[in-house]
Amino acid sequence: MTLAVANDSTSGSHEPVASADATRGRVDAAVAAVADDAAEVAEVAEVAEPALYTVSVRNLCAFAAKSGDLDLHFTPSPTAQQGRQGHQLVAQRRGPHHEAEVSLAGRFGPLAVRGRADGFDPRSHTLEEVKTYRGALEAMPAQQQALHWAQLKVYGWLMCQSRGLSALSLSLVYFDVVQQTESPQQQRFEAGALRQYFEALCQPFLAWARQEVAHRRQRDAALAQRAFPQLPFRAGQRELAAAVYKACVSSQPLLVQAPTGIGKTIGTVYPALRAMPERRTDKLFFLTAKTPGRQVALDALRQVREPSQPAAAALPLRVIELVARDKACEHPDKACHGESCPLARGFYDRLPAAREAAAHAQWLDRQALRSVALAHGICPYYLGHEMVRWSDVVVGDYNYYFDRSAMLHGLTVENNWRISLLVDEAHNLVPRGCSMYSAELGHAETLLVRDQGPPALRARIDGLLDQWQVLQERHAPSGKQPDWRLLDAPPEAWLRALHKLNQALGEHVNATVLDGDSIVLRFYFRTLAIATLADLFGDHSLCEYARDDGTLPAIQDGVNAGQVRLEGSGFDRLDAVGRITLRNVVPGHFLAPRLQGADAAVLFSATLQPADYYQSLLGLPEHTRWLDVPSPFRSQQLAVRVVPISTRRDARALSLDTLVATIALQFRQVRGNYLAFFSSFDYLEQACARLRHQCPDIPVWAQERQMDERARRAFLERFDHTGCGIGFAVLGGVFAEGVDLPGRRLIGAFVATLGLPQFDPVNEAICARMQARFGQGYEYTYVYPGLQKVVQAAGRVIRTESDTGCVVLLDARYRQPRYRALLPSWWQLEAG
Ligand code: SF4
Repeated sequence: MTLAVANDSTSGSHEPVASADATRGRVDAAVAAVADDAAEVAEVAEVAEPALYTVSVRNLCAFAAKSGDLDLHFTPSPTAQQGRQGHQLVAQRRGPHHEAEVSLAGRFGPLAVRGRADGFDPRSHTLEEVKTYRGALEAMPAQQQALHWAQLKVYGWLMCQSRGLSALSLSLVYFDVVQQTESPQQQRFEAGALRQYFEALCQPFLAWARQEVAHRRQRDAALAQRAFPQLPFRAGQRELAAAVYKACVSSQPLLVQAPTGIGKTIGTVYPALRAMPERRTDKLFFLTAKTPGRQVALDALRQVREPSQPAAAALPLRVIELVARDKACEHPDKACHGESCPLARGFYDRLPAAREAAAHAQWLDRQALRSVALAHGICPYYLGHEMVRWSDVVVGDYNYYFDRSAMLHGLTVENNWRISLLVDEAHNLVPRGCSMYSAELGHAETLLVRDQGPPALRARIDGLLDQWQVLQERHAPSGKQPDWRLLDAPPEAWLRALHKLNQALGEHVNATVLDGDSIVLRFYFRTLAIATLADLFGDHSLCEYARDDGTLPAIQDGVNAGQVRLEGSGFDRLDAVGRITLRNVVPGHFLAPRLQGADAAVLFSATLQPADYYQSLLGLPEHTRWLDVPSPFRSQQLAVRVVPISTRRDARALSLDTLVATIALQFRQVRGNYLAFFSSFDYLEQACARLRHQCPDIPVWAQERQMDERARRAFLERFDHTGCGIGFAVLGGVFAEGVDLPGRRLIGAFVATLGLPQFDPVNEAICARMQARFGQGYEYTYVYPGLQKVVQAAGRVIRTESDTGCVVLLDARYRQPRYRALLPSWWQLEAG
């Protein structure tokens, strides 16, 4: 829904709209709005006077015609293609006089309302709106049907007005995309009644629109005047801010490597905001990989909003923090519909007041949004979704924009928003992107659903089980044949059986009310994910078949080792074999269109070396600018030493005593807090046990494989200013990045190994694919991801220009130029 904004929706361009206010005889400031899509708007005939605001019929109704409960009973919708085909088919079935896709426009004072009705029969004066669906029509929530009628009635008035009709028939046609049958509902209306209805919707919307436009003007005027809030600039910060500003106003993608300590977040947030008035940007999305990154972004935004003078008002900027549903939900034991959750009951009845309060509050971090939502008795999570539409800045996880069905991306397209993206810690977008576009399915899960699912699905499930059997026989282990195989593509017969089962599952879940954690529903989502990705399969992904003991594997995050997430799958150990994994290894294939959908995209991190690697894997275009901001730190602040031992897997037992002795010696020479990083938990545990045994006087504590928030906090709390000891952690883990321990809280780090992923069949297959795609298989698979983790981990030591400390690199290979070249240029390596 959508008002807001500065895009010229009548022309489809993003130039400012000058809308004349005839009564005052002058041109009003830029304000237009967003309609269903640019093409639709472009086809609409101009009305007599330029409007102050334009809104689509769909958005007008979504704003003003919804009432009752929030109802998220699962109802699968047709795909976009099924929807298009359904509309075409219905139009073909009508006679020669039928007018399809009728563009309509009308006014309510300064408000222009536009849209496109599906069909009109000029002989019978029947206006038609077609809605495609799958499954049982009776399962469609009543509110949704009421919304469809609201749209049709608004079209009805616009049609009466445009053709001078005193009455007409409205026909709401539900079209079943599977059965290809129509279920029409028809009513006759007088033009006067339709006009009344139209005006009753426009009235509240116009009031809201005026407020939105006023806010937008104030926001842009204030941003245009806002000075950098942290003067003087730190070293490198001005260069960073200037590059981000330029990237935003010139709509040119920018990849920035900027070291810790220069104030990166405020150095990107401020110029991106400052560019908004000039570029007429609707929204800024600040996307983070991890939860702590959100807080850092919010802190920076708070600084920009804060009044520049003590008595002045805060900058009028609406900021919202998006939080995952499981963190925002007030009733995790309930389902999101009015019969189950009290905060879903009457949601839309109380939404207008909550929306008003939330817009007035402007600052909507997790706590503030929760307060507003609970004060109005509605769900905070879904109020957050609503307020995204009315916010200037959205802070949230990468998922919200880059995932397959990402909300922010969907809204951007639907509303034709002009957006800027700031992607924080962008090195993480490579493994996260791989994870978003990977999926897997096992024989075991299929068997479990056969056991526990409804009998009606048995035939389709058996069809897939037969194909699992075929694969099992075809790929039976024998002699040299490994338990893991790389396939050229998803097996055709298996995929056909999967599609048939997926369709049957979709029809079942559509016709049945299922809990969110129902095994059938979750299996449906898993089959849907892998079937969708199988259809998009290409050389950006691997297709793997693995023998499986029936236990769902522990999945790690990362490009190189099983990026597929199986969070809380709930499938238990079963005696079955066979698993297909579609493993995305070049996420840029899927991320590129998302990045192109942004008017400006700035991706930044302290570790983006080499730039080519990130540009290729993230799908950034050729014309992306690269900026490497020099570190503000001096080499004298950090003693970097290479200890020439071998930490290769087969040499670790031999070098363990030397490694432990080196750590102990450094600790005894300069007592304080250290972090010691290892490439795996196994290696960490061996080294930690040896140190404890040989040096029982040295305090040590270690990262564990599963740590909740409290345990993580306890680990970090030991690094206080007066502390003394060594924390053992894994490279690439939760303590290896995003952890800020300035001053005496951390005086040194040990890094054992180069952080290279292990050599195994999966990584070797990735290596071959990277070689074929980029001509640098070994570097893309092992060297770059490994050294990136090392630099991130070692980067915990020097956080400010007054910090001093040491980094001890425990592996002789750090002396080789190919690895040394990937270490920060301001480091000066001493001999070990
Ligand atoms: S509170 Fe939880 S269960 Fe209720 S509507 Fe919100 S997310 Fe759903």
